[in-house]
Amino acid sequence: MPGIVIDTSGSPYTRLKPVPIENVKLQDEFWASRLDTLLNVTLPTQYKLLEETGRIDNFRRAAGKAKGSFRGLYFNDSDVYKWVEAASFALAYRRDPRVEELTDRVVAEIAAAQDEDGYLNTYFTFERKRERWSNLRDMHEMYCAGHLFQAAVARRRTLGKRDLLAAAVRFADHIYEVFGPGRREGVDGHPEVEMALVELYRETGKREYLELARLMIDRRGRGLIGGSPYHLDHKPLREMEEVPPGAHAVRALYLFCGAADVYMETGDRSLMEALERLWRDLVEGKMYVTGGVGSRYEGEAVGEAYELPNERAYAETCAAVANAMWNWRMLLATGEARFADVMELALYNGALAGISLSGDLYFYVNPLADRGRHRRQRWFECACCPPNIARLIAYVPGMVYARGRSSVYVNLYAASRAAVELDGGRVQLVQRTRYPWDGLVEIEVRPEGVEEFSLLLRAPGWSKPARIEVNGEGFGTAQPGTYFEVRRKWKEGDVVRARFDVGPALVEAHPHVTCNTGRAAIRYGPLVYCLEQADNEHNVWDLAVVPGTLRAEWRSDLLGGVVTVKGKALALDTSAWAGKLYAPLGEVQMQAREVEFTAIPYYAWANRELGPMIVWVRLAEQKVGQSA
Ligand SMILES: [Zn+2]
Repeated sequence: MPGIVIDTSGSPYTRLKPVPIENVKLQDEFWASRLDTLLNVTLPTQYKLLEETGRIDNFRRAAGKAKGSFRGLYFNDSDVYKWVEAASFALAYRRDPRVEELTDRVVAEIAAAQDEDGYLNTYFTFERKRERWSNLRDMHEMYCAGHLFQAAVARRRTLGKRDLLAAAVRFADHIYEVFGPGRREGVDGHPEVEMALVELYRETGKREYLELARLMIDRRGRGLIGGSPYHLDHKPLREMEEVPPGAHAVRALYLFCGAADVYMETGDRSLMEALERLWRDLVEGKMYVTGGVGSRYEGEAVGEAYELPNERAYAETCAAVANAMWNWRMLLATGEARFADVMELALYNGALAGISLSGDLYFYVNPLADRGRHRRQRWFECACCPPNIARLIAYVPGMVYARGRSSVYVNLYAASRAAVELDGGRVQLVQRTRYPWDGLVEIEVRPEGVEEFSLLLRAPGWSKPARIEVNGEGFGTAQPGTYFEVRRKWKEGDVVRARFDVGPALVEAHPHVTCNTGRAAIRYGPLVYCLEQADNEHNVWDLAVVPGTLRAEWRSDLLGGVVTVKGKALALDTSAWAGKLYAPLGEVQMQAREVEFTAIPYYAWANRELGPMIVWVRLAEQKVGQSA
């Protein structure tokens, strides 16, 4: 059974086809240990919390096996489904009898809770049965259904088990009966079911599901659920020029995922053209430097262009996860490296910050500056984020490579062994690298039954032009933000080598992002850095980095092993401001002394003692605007 997350193998309008998770054996310092933590810590502890908080009891209750009332929020079923999906894909990476047994148990409870007509949602049982489908805008029934479909498809693909898929198909058929073409015109307030229906279509071949997904996209924007930008219901997706300020970030990005999936099956150009406009609008004005999305607490929403506050960044973990998911789909559809860049950015930074190094604490909100109070929690009443980051980590082995008819795409770099099927044969790849800590990548090629094909290496957008060598000889120069094609007749043991310039470097923001004026963020390879108090003597909010002094230093003993970025900074003595909030320009003179600062990857912050953190650090004035 192939462990494929987004199965574009039969999709007519895609450039890239998937490589199953089990075909990629990670051997790297970064992701392999995170997948182990996922299986050993995250999934078992999340299971316990699903039990403790009554989320699984809700299924037992619906099945008549347990008494009591429904517990928690009305969409809590979705957390259980996301957990099953995460566990299923993680099991494709490595079979773990304990996690598999837990998954089987949970799935049995889910399946037993299904109604005879196929409906399945534990909130709307018994006393609330008559309220089904009565408030599509708010009650998340199709949202929950979508997560069920994704979990069911994952389980079928990775473990070969049809139990949950059978339940998903019955529920999808029920939804088609109620909301299909010519039936009731309904659309859910929270997108999700669209991409799930397309995946269910890919798994079952039932075209009704694709048809329903497309219908759901086209019904949105006609005021059926109130017409608000928050719900992306203010105008049809095909007519949107921007991600509207006030749009709920996760709703928006899930909708874009679904639309990309529908495009890949139908070739519907106007959908893709809209997605292209929305993508530009987002990455050119409304996305954090971490790949996080959603700058407003109010409505967990996207703001105006350049409205990107740091301390008050909302940047929900789920939104960064969704941003990675959307860009992965855009990459599969187009084969364009700019989408892989954003996918990588959101994955390594905005999303990964959502989980602790220990694997059992989570951020819901991801600020880019903090005074020392924000800490990860073990769970939330609305627990959308923990299982969402779990499933994204489970996807990672399946994101590293993709294939064309006679080409292999290297999307992400991670030391690994992989087998990729091509027309007429297969190729084994051994990738050797210390990425993201080092930009040197070597890929050894072992063709089996195929001779001539292309290896496409992604030259990350953050790098400089990179020399590509084959067997030690120059082959060409890869331009940043493109895939570099090495096409040749391959022989066993051929080695392709690239060295990407990981930095460190300073990044500045568009002048209209007012909170970043006179400031810069530190980047090292795909990683965004921050200054955290635990590594610095002086308050990190009072440090002004001196450009041109940055250097990287590997620290195996720190935060699970990280490259730190060190350099010179001016430590400003803000005590001169004591008792004042405002003063005539130039009246308060601050003393400064030169100190050394240490920055760590943003994903790793808040794993030690409390203290301030800052991503956009002040620049020492004399060098403002110059590069590192
Ligand atoms: Zn969330």
